Amino acid sequence: MAVDLPRLEDLPLERGQRVLVRVDLNVPVREGTQGTIIVDDDLRIATALPTLEWLRQRGAVLVVAGHLGRPKGEFRSRDSMRPVAVRLSELLGQEVVLAPAVVGPRVEPIVASAGPGDVVLLENVRFEPGETTNDPAFGANLAALADHYVNEAFGASHRSHASIVGPPRLLPHAGGRLLFREVEVLSRLLGGAARPFVAVLGGAKVGDKLAVIDALLDRCDTVLVGGAMAFTFLLAQGHPVGDSLVQPEMVDECRRLLDTGRVRIPVDVVVAREPTDDAETQVVAADAMPDGWRGLDVGPTTADGYADEIARSATVLWNGPMGMFELAPFAAGTHRVAGAVAASPAFTVVGGGDSAAAIRQFGLADRVDHVSTGGGASLEFIERGDLPGLAALRQKEVS
Ligand code: AMP
Repeated sequence: MAVDLPRLEDLPLERGQRVLVRVDLNVPVREGTQGTIIVDDDLRIATALPTLEWLRQRGAVLVVAGHLGRPKGEFRSRDSMRPVAVRLSELLGQEVVLAPAVVGPRVEPIVASAGPGDVVLLENVRFEPGETTNDPAFGANLAALADHYVNEAFGASHRSHASIVGPPRLLPHAGGRLLFREVEVLSRLLGGAARPFVAVLGGAKVGDKLAVIDALLDRCDTVLVGGAMAFTFLLAQGHPVGDSLVQPEMVDECRRLLDTGRVRIPVDVVVAREPTDDAETQVVAADAMPDGWRGLDVGPTTADGYADEIARSATVLWNGPMGMFELAPFAAGTHRVAGAVAASPAFTVVGGGDSAAAIRQFGLADRVDHVSTGGGASLEFIERGDLPGLAALRQKEVS
């Protein structure tokens, strides 16, 4: 399916010109030796490389912008882009200069003195309060650092934040390679996906995902529900759910979705008193969960049933783990679903940070057609058919 967005080749780019590239650099970080913070998983940085390399080969000066964590509009050293600069430099095989701020007089001379092929990484855009409030002045300050704008941050494009929607109003702009691939794959799910089409949804937050289930039911045949979301559905059926995570205010909505007859929920559940990696567990029927225990994974009968449904499908979308897979006693359901998705000859798309992490943890990522780096963004794209960041790229800039 053709993607109706300007691409890198459409930029009127001349050697030595500066390109502001918004990248989804929101990677997991952890403490390394001697208190340094290091990147724990560089998938998001690595997937942006083709766009960055393409621009460098054309002699662009790269001004890279991204966010990390939720620093709430002020400098916080633990959310500095320093670890990203280190990893990006290793991956590109060249120096990456970390600017001491996002915009302004401390940044401008650094960008001005950079030459073709140089890479300047701006500090965390969320250090600026104008980022999340989409302040046009901050957007203009970002745009002032460059001659062109590229959005390679599909995973942040569901947010009307200044670095996503501001610069494309002012600069010639394009979507990056990965952004194109994400839009291409997800558009295929929105229209003309091969049937049967099954969506497997898990994770913790039912509130976020109910609207998506609604939208998915318009497009797919069956939705398989796992993860903590499942317990609000069980509650809606009047079953006891022990100490499981639930969102009682969503019960009516869950009932309505169950009434469609196309939403499957677990028939058995793995329960424990506490979510620990040495917890005592038991498998119980989904309609007979004991008091004082909480559901932390789908049971084996459910996992087998979901795997069979996946095996029968021609299109599979999987978003969200089936259980608290980070802990070994609750990983089996997610592992079984990941295995079924990987073994399927169907068109398979895994979206969402956690399911992407799960499928890679199980070593199966190269056996699916597409692993989306943007969880929230991919769900919102499926729900609404567009994203603010994509709409911004479709506008003409005003010069
Ligand atoms: P989300 O961000 O909504 O995709 O949720 C992902 C998180 O949901 C993962 O960290 C899982 O550990 C967690 N999760 C999945 N199933 C359960 C469950 N039954 N109870 C609590 N947390 C869960």
